[in-house]
Amino acid sequence: MAIPHIELNDGHSIPQLGYGVFKVPPTDTERAVSEAFELGYRHIDTAAIYGNEEGVGAAISRSGLAREDLFITTKLWNDRHDGDDPDAAIAESLDKLGLAQVDLYLVHWPTPAHDNYVHAWEKLIELRDAGLTRSIGVSNFLVPHLERIVAETQVVPAVDQIELHPAHMQVDIADWAAAHDVRIEAWGPLGQGKYDLFGTAPVADASAAHGKTPAQVVLRWHIQHGNIVFPKSVQRARLEENLDIFDFELSDAEIDAIDALDPADGSGRVSAHPDEVN
Ligand code: NAD
Repeated sequence: MAIPHIELNDGHSIPQLGYGVFKVPPTDTERAVSEAFELGYRHIDTAAIYGNEEGVGAAISRSGLAREDLFITTKLWNDRHDGDDPDAAIAESLDKLGLAQVDLYLVHWPTPAHDNYVHAWEKLIELRDAGLTRSIGVSNFLVPHLERIVAETQVVPAVDQIELHPAHMQVDIADWAAAHDVRIEAWGPLGQGKYDLFGTAPVADASAAHGKTPAQVVLRWHIQHGNIVFPKSVQRARLEENLDIFDFELSDAEIDAIDALDPADGSGRVSAHPDEVN
């Protein structure tokens, strides 16, 4: 079944489901991304720091797919925010990916202790205007970081890519994003396997009710919330399973029950706090 597209605030659109390659070993990336393309994925989420952009590029070149049918995201790493270094960083990423332009380029973390994320954002605006990336966005930006870049540049990011799963919904950021026409990309959509999300009653009950796996239920929950997701696996069977989420619908009651897994005090976070990554 076709993957829906979500319209971004700059008029471009993004496949709502993709394949994220964090921790996919560089030596296995070409194989894994090639399998993802064969199965029907067209949106790949990578980053300079993942060390596997070359593998993504090899899979793109081998695929024979038309450039306009692909959506490729990569990210500016934390130690490259200053001066003109973002120019060099994107040139290196494009070279590894074998592309003239990425579809989406993100500031990976705000690194607030260095107080240079506004500069990094200004550089991304320049890179977009120069045609090196079609859309620009941020990642791991909390509401104060978002408010500051918009106040200082008047340019609203297309997306904020944040840790988001049932135990950590980050409702304050999601509300801000909705009010400012910013799309949410949910990283760690399955909680990175770091807590027993699949064994919780609302997920297990919906899994039994719909004849779908717990992972499919959680991914479907994201889709119905409007989140953009790109779950990671290196197993072909799981890549296939994660694509097969467009033939059923969770009820409002099922969605509400999964929403209630969020302790709503931030304690469901499974990875680093953005203020502490510098
Ligand atoms: P995830 O929630 O996608 O979890 C991945 C884990 O889930 C893997 O261990 C995998 O084996 C397991 N899994 C995948 N499909 C499954 C299935 N069908 N059944 C059971 N288990 C399954 O976590 P993630 O990889 O951290 O996040 C997805 C993507 O988000 C990454 O690949 C990356 O592209 C992006 N990301 C971005 C940031 C950021 O700072 N911007 C940080 C982390 C991840």
